Amino acid sequence: MRASIDWSRTRRDLFIKCPRAWYLRYGHQSQSNASKVYPSSRRPWDLMLRAMKEILIERIEDLREGKQWSTLLVEHQLKYALQKNLENSNHNVNKRYSVALLRYANHRMTLLWRCRIIQQLVRKQYPCWYVLDRTEPVSKDARQVYASPDLAILIQKKWHLIRFDMQSAPKNPIDELEANAMVYWAKQQDGFPQRELSYRLHTIGWRRGFWHTETYQPTYQSVHQSIQLLENDCRAMENMYQYGRHNLTLLPLATSSKTCESCSYRSHCPASEGLLHAQQEQKLLQLAHSSQSSKT
Ligand code: SF4
Repeated sequence: MRASIDWSRTRRDLFIKCPRAWYLRYGHQSQSNASKVYPSSRRPWDLMLRAMKEILIERIEDLREGKQWSTLLVEHQLKYALQKNLENSNHNVNKRYSVALLRYANHRMTLLWRCRIIQQLVRKQYPCWYVLDRTEPVSKDARQVYASPDLAILIQKKWHLIRFDMQSAPKNPIDELEANAMVYWAKQQDGFPQRELSYRLHTIGWRRGFWHTETYQPTYQSVHQSIQLLENDCRAMENMYQYGRHNLTLLPLATSSKTCESCSYRSHCPASEGLLHAQQEQKLLQLAHSSQSSKT
């Protein structure tokens, strides 16, 4: 059976942090159960970020139609989206924690709305802009690539592609290549230019208490490198998928115990009693496994 490996930044991020967790979330699903809806095993914190993103997009869509939300409406919508996400999860979150999550979401949303680019949209500074569907993939060699920006704004003959990250990882040189995947996506849509220099990229992400905006100028080379990154990732994921199918116990564990702290698979993982211990045990298992295979 061949794996259907899809690429997105979220998948890539998890794959790098812990191949086992990636396999359990994305690789383990068979084609038949992939479409079924199961309660989410994601952490309440991640569900808060997801709720925020949903409401941000709804709010910007309304802005496009000329409707502005009041503070009260923002709070109400966030509360509703958070409740909905928590109800569809297998976590029991007490009232106090859910109120705290809502407070975080409100705070971040308030600050995000003050970002320059959003304020320019509020002031109707640009006549041509679109809200895009992040769940809309493009195909690459029979794989689905989720790399759509959240917004595309035409500013002085250049398309500015914007992505919002509700929680950014620390800055990394690979960020620019990941951002360039937005151009790969845009070039496959009707109405967007083919020249890489016709774009400008912005990522707006929450990091260490602030919204940070990174801006990149894509070139032919940077987009090409981004596609190579994508291909390498998919190849590595496919190999890991095959490996996991044959021997889940030997799948590489997390690279840092910090990842385990927030992992929803922890209770059934060898790392539940400590990552270091589990890694040592896995090394012994690997040795036993390779000496057995050399005998056969
Ligand atoms: S508990 Fe740690 S090692 Fe186990 S799946 Fe989760 S992140 Fe990976």
